[in-house]
Amino acid sequence: MKSARPGSILDGVSIRAFVACVAVACGSLAACAPRARPANAPSVVLVSIDTLRPDHLGCYGYRKPISPNIDAFRREAVLMRDVVASAPSTLASHASMFTSLRVQHHGASVAASSALRPGLVTLAEVLQRSGFATASFNGGGELHRVWGLDRGFGVYESATDSTVSEIGDDTLAAQVQLARKWLEGVGSRPFFLFLHTYEVHHPYTPAPERLHAIEPSYAGRLPDRISIRLLEKINSGQRKLAPGDLEHIVAAYDAEIASADAGFGELLDLLRRIGRYDSSIVVLVSDHGEAFGERGKVGWHGDTLYDEQIRIPLIVKLPGGQLAGKTVDPQVRGIDLAPTLLSQLGLPVPLQFSGTAIDFAGGAPDHPPWSVATIEGRPQGAAVRTERWKWYEGRLYDLEHDPGETRDVAALHPELEHELEDRLMASLRSREIAVATPVAMPDEVAQQLRALGYLE
Ligand SMILES: [Zn+2]
Repeated sequence: MKSARPGSILDGVSIRAFVACVAVACGSLAACAPRARPANAPSVVLVSIDTLRPDHLGCYGYRKPISPNIDAFRREAVLMRDVVASAPSTLASHASMFTSLRVQHHGASVAASSALRPGLVTLAEVLQRSGFATASFNGGGELHRVWGLDRGFGVYESATDSTVSEIGDDTLAAQVQLARKWLEGVGSRPFFLFLHTYEVHHPYTPAPERLHAIEPSYAGRLPDRISIRLLEKINSGQRKLAPGDLEHIVAAYDAEIASADAGFGELLDLLRRIGRYDSSIVVLVSDHGEAFGERGKVGWHGDTLYDEQIRIPLIVKLPGGQLAGKTVDPQVRGIDLAPTLLSQLGLPVPLQFSGTAIDFAGGAPDHPPWSVATIEGRPQGAAVRTERWKWYEGRLYDLEHDPGETRDVAALHPELEHELEDRLMASLRSREIAVATPVAMPDEVAQQLRALGYLE
């Protein structure tokens, strides 16, 4: 019975055994050196709005009109309907997007105080070596350069080392202003711009006017600003929610989305103003979701691999508005983003990458039908998911008939359990398991991680 061995995917198979049995196809940058960039290569703008649930965007079906700019952008872009992150946490998920590797293979983990494994090639490095000007303006914390995701960026500014010093000031609009100055110096070169914000991440600190626009009347006792401490009390049972309180917390989260959406609109306006919108690939993505009542958790992520925490939005505008308005329904994964972008640019995809380029036009009929997600610091707690099934902690969920993942149906489908377990093991064995790359965390990074609720 698999229920007798919950979370036992790696039990009896040591990490060391993985290291010994794996051949890495391409771990070094030198071995993966791309060819010179093609003429007229489009630029790439990658925007990660941290902690953004897809089902809180109008273009993914949300009924509140809080994302007008993203929804309009979607009409000019391809929307991936079913997207799964590699982890429900910031560093591990972004590292997977940038290296096209699963968490066990890239090694970047705040929980393990480990930076990105040396010798891995990142998307930014490939683009930089291909002649792109590269820059990132990000929220820092789990994306601070100490974790290694700055590789390949000519400019890498985190909120912790710029004029944006408070969590509440970490807005997408502020990152766009920093990007504007950088873009002025880029000239006509192709560029790779990576913007990231914790604006939507807890604590939820919405501007009063945005909150009141979404929630005109709330008579409860919770404050308008939802702190990490308050969420901790709620999630530990010390503070009970009254009727209307959960909706109020969701409204505060939604108000932060509305603000990030406005920042996204400013970015699109900027790109149009400098004449780089139409020719560029523009990507909107997030790194993980957020629980709002599922499994008793409110305003939280990082601790389970249920869909509310690992599903993310992914919307890609191609040069010239190709395939505008198209929807890709099959499941795709965070690790697919980097190979997708390189393929669109006509650049070789490093053998290190374990993701598969998304076939926008064909609806990805041959796309690998499984995804793997992992909680940082708990490599044995991986989940494997297909469009219909998820195997997690020794239980099997039928996502089609039970999207809330509440009923274990493993006893009804023993063959699926073995198939998914085999798939997971094969995925993990496909690359070398990373050993920790210890990080000495600067005080300002520890301080910000505390403010974001990641450290005690
Ligand atoms: Zn995050």
